Parts: sequence; C-alpha cells; structure tokens
Amino acid sequence: MSDISLVNKYNVAVPRYTSYPTVPNWKENIDVHRWKETFRQQFEITNLTDGISLYFHLPFCESLCTYCGCNKKITTNHSVESEYITALLKEWKMYLELMPQKPVVREIHLGGGTPTFFSPEHLRSFLSTILADCIVPDDHDFSLEGHPNNTTRQHLQTLFDLGFRRVSYGVQDNNPEVQHVINRIQPFENVKNATEMAREIGYTSVNFDLIYGLPLQTLERMRKTLEQSISLRPDRVAFYSYAHVPWTSRGQRLFNEQDLPGSEEKMALYLLGQEMFAQAGYEDVGMDHFALTGDDLYIAWQENRLHRNFMGYTTQHTKILLGMGVSAISDTGNAFAQNSKTIHDYYQFIGLGTMPVVKGYFLSEEDEAFRRYILDISCQGKTLFAPHHLTLLKQFTFPMLSDLAADGLIIYDVSGLVVTSSGRNFIRNICSAFDLYLHRDQDTKVNSTFSKAI
Ligand code: SF4
Repeated sequence: MSDISLVNKYNVAVPRYTSYPTVPNWKENIDVHRWKETFRQQFEITNLTDGISLYFHLPFCESLCTYCGCNKKITTNHSVESEYITALLKEWKMYLELMPQKPVVREIHLGGGTPTFFSPEHLRSFLSTILADCIVPDDHDFSLEGHPNNTTRQHLQTLFDLGFRRVSYGVQDNNPEVQHVINRIQPFENVKNATEMAREIGYTSVNFDLIYGLPLQTLERMRKTLEQSISLRPDRVAFYSYAHVPWTSRGQRLFNEQDLPGSEEKMALYLLGQEMFAQAGYEDVGMDHFALTGDDLYIAWQENRLHRNFMGYTTQHTKILLGMGVSAISDTGNAFAQNSKTIHDYYQFIGLGTMPVVKGYFLSEEDEAFRRYILDISCQGKTLFAPHHLTLLKQFTFPMLSDLAADGLIIYDVSGLVVTSSGRNFIRNICSAFDLYLHRDQDTKVNSTFSKAI
C-alpha cells in the first residue's frame, strides 16, 4: 500500500495514549478517600527507590492562541499570581500530610498556560518553599515551558539557580500569516534570543515545540520554519500534529476550516519535518519527538529507558507523578486523578481544605498489563505478550494486528510485537490495538472525543 493510502486508511480518531485507560473512560466524582489511600501506599512503596515527579499547572496567559487545547485562563492582570501560588502551596501541604518521609523529587515540570507569566520573584518564592520540603537527588530533571515572547533572563537565571536545566519553548510556526491566523505573533528573533539566553546561563537542553497541520501552513512555509528552527540547534524537538477538536476548544471555531491542510497535505508536512530533522542529525525517538544524539532523551531511547506520561516523553522512571493546580492530573501507576478544571472550583476546594480532585480511575490488573503494552510500544517500539493474556489478545487485539502487519507496520506473533520503520509514523494506531475500552465500546466515546491520528 502507498504511503498516501496508508495515511488515508489510518487517519481515524485515536487517543495519544498519555494515559491508559484514556481520560474519557475515567469516572466523575472519584472516591477521594480511596485516592488518598492509594497515593499514600504507592508513595511508601516507591519514594525511596524511585522518587517522585511533580507537575505544576500554571494556567495564565496574556493572550489566546486560537489553536490551543490546553486548560488556560486569559488575563493581563498579574495580581492573580499571588492567590494562585497560595492555593498551590496549600494543595502541596495536603499531599505532604500523606507522606511519612520527605519526598525524593527527581523531576519537576512547570507547564501551563504560560509558566513565564509569573514573575521570577513569585516563581522563586513558590519553588523554594516546595523544595525546602524535599530531597533532590543530583540527577534530578527540572524543566519548564517558556513562552519566547515573555521569558526573560531573570526567569531563566532564577530557575537555573533552583536546579532547572531544561526549557521547552513553544515555537509552533514562524510564518507571519500563520501566526496571524493562530493569534500568536512571535518574531523569530524572540525565539533566537530566548534560546541563546538559556544556553548562556547553562541550560543543557532546549526543546522546541512545533506544530504541523495549522491553518495556512504550506510546504514552503513549513520548510522555512524548520530551517530557522534547526539553525538554532534545539536539543529536542516535539513536532506535534495539530489536533482539531473545535467541539472542546472554542478558539478553534474561529478558524476557517478551508484553511486547514487536508490529511495528505498534513502528512506531507510531517514527512518534510522528519526528513529535515534526519538530515540535520536528529534521531526520531518516537511519537513526534526528535533529539540530537547527545541529548538525554536520545540516550534514554537507545538504552530502552524512555517513559511516557502526561508530560510527554521523559527519561525519569518514577511511579508517582503528582500534578497540582487547576486541571492537573496525577498518576500513581495504579490510579489517576484529575483536579477541577475551573479556577473558581479549584479555589473553592482549596479554601475548604479539601483535595481538589474531581475525576479519576483506579486501574485493574488487566488495565495495568495493557497499559504496559501501550507504554512499551510508544517508548521502545516493541513489546512481549504474557501467555495468560493470549485469549484476550486474540479476541480484541490480534484482528487489528493482522491488518497492521499486512500493511507492513508491525511484525508480530504470539510472543510479541515489533514496530517496523514504516510503522513508526502510526504508533498511535498500533497502540490502539491494545485499547480494550476502545474495542469493547466501539464508536461511542472515543470517536467523538479524540483528534485524528494524522
Ligand atoms: S498555546 Fe500556550 S500561550 Fe497560547 S493560549 Fe495556549 S497555553 Fe496559552
């Protein structure tokens, strides 16, 4: 089958598998007592051996990028910073009470929204308070998402002094027409300055997020964005497919759908990126991520140490990811919990001294096993089957695997599966063969919730 036929065949609504079971299968009104108990038990088992990861969701942005699917609050009023940080610290204290020992914090990620909306002084006082409660190993990995338009030298220096060594910049697209239609006016000079500042200060890894499939993108415009981006030698690039989900992201309803590249054009944009990254010495480490060979992400991929969670690909293997802030998601390996999605409700919970979790899922043994298959495929491009799952696999998974194998995307037998080089562009589809919820509940939640694979 030709590449284009494959694209058309597999361009269906499919999750990104940053969790399994995926969010639409989680339960509203999670049992908070059970969540706390699960967190406490997992913490006791894994803290001293694996450590834990922290994610802080910092939701404010000064203007709305119309493509954005993140949980954010648009405001230019910076007086919101203090109240939000106070709430985050109260949430942290609630979790500290569940920890019988000091947490060993291997990983911190500041995401958003725009973390650099917050002043360096606020970030310093907030993070210093958190870190005073923690043990931080030498090989920790602290990172932030920086907006090229408002990341200052002082932001970068403050966070560097607190142990941050990785910064990820949202570049998205450098073309002025595309930037105009997505309402993200960001001169390339800003990206260049922010990158150079990070390097001068001593950051060891700079990541760029780029998006393909945005309105008005063409091959020529994309080539220019890629050339400019590659000229700055980011250590990693996340080259994401634009997820068009106007039913959940209101800003996307402002797009003229005629301006969006079709699935074949979109795949051509991706293939251009893949080719240009390869020519520039980047390795494809899986689901839309490229890294230079000296970067930790590449080394972890080579050594089969990659892990994937809500923060995307990571090199740290902590069982517990504790997410704090509005809409943040936590993962204990055997349970997920998500905080309230509105700032108003989040503040109400915190004000009442109640944990703000509103939704979640407790995994069964079967869920944990099938999650493992999906993680193995997305992080290593291969997996081994447990013999006692063969009945389930034959019923739900093998029919799809047989189709994927016929198209040359995988090789499999009863012992396991390996993704072929052509299959690497279809990892989401391959993972979906192991999504028992999808197969048992076909055509309901998933097809009306997720973006298309390409
Ligand atoms: S893309 Fe980033 S900066 Fe733009 S609105 Fe979304 S979260 Fe804010």
